[in-house]
Amino acid sequence: MTIFLKIINREIPADIVYEDDLCLAFRDVTPQAPVHVLLIPKKPIVSLRQLAPDDAELCGHLLLMVPKVADILGLDGGYRTVVNTGADGGQSVYHLHIHILGGRPLAWPPG
Ligand code: AMP
Repeated sequence: MTIFLKIINREIPADIVYEDDLCLAFRDVTPQAPVHVLLIPKKPIVSLRQLAPDDAELCGHLLLMVPKVADILGLDGGYRTVVNTGADGGQSVYHLHIHILGGRPLAWPPG
């Protein structure tokens, strides 16, 4: 079981900023920007690579929730979304998540 499933199940604490039937958003424990939140599906999908055609509606919902969560966080100046996939992508938790980073200008390209 991943740490994110434990957060969903309230087995470990998290600073939750948004929740609905399908997804949860909470602050990253090691923030890389003044605002750093992870938006995750409650369904334990490992990564983008494990998405199935049946997940289309869920994926749409997740993307639609990004600006909603960004509004809750007050990211009026914009923000960056990142989805790390697999070892080369730098993924460390194998439960699909969208990083939402903001609160300062972010350089491009990333490392
Ligand atoms: P990634 O490296 O893309 O898989 O991102 C995983 C993220 O999860 C990292 O930014 C970690 O800091 C974050 N993280 C790990 N454990 C926790 C936790 N218990 N609560 C909040 N964020 C976490």
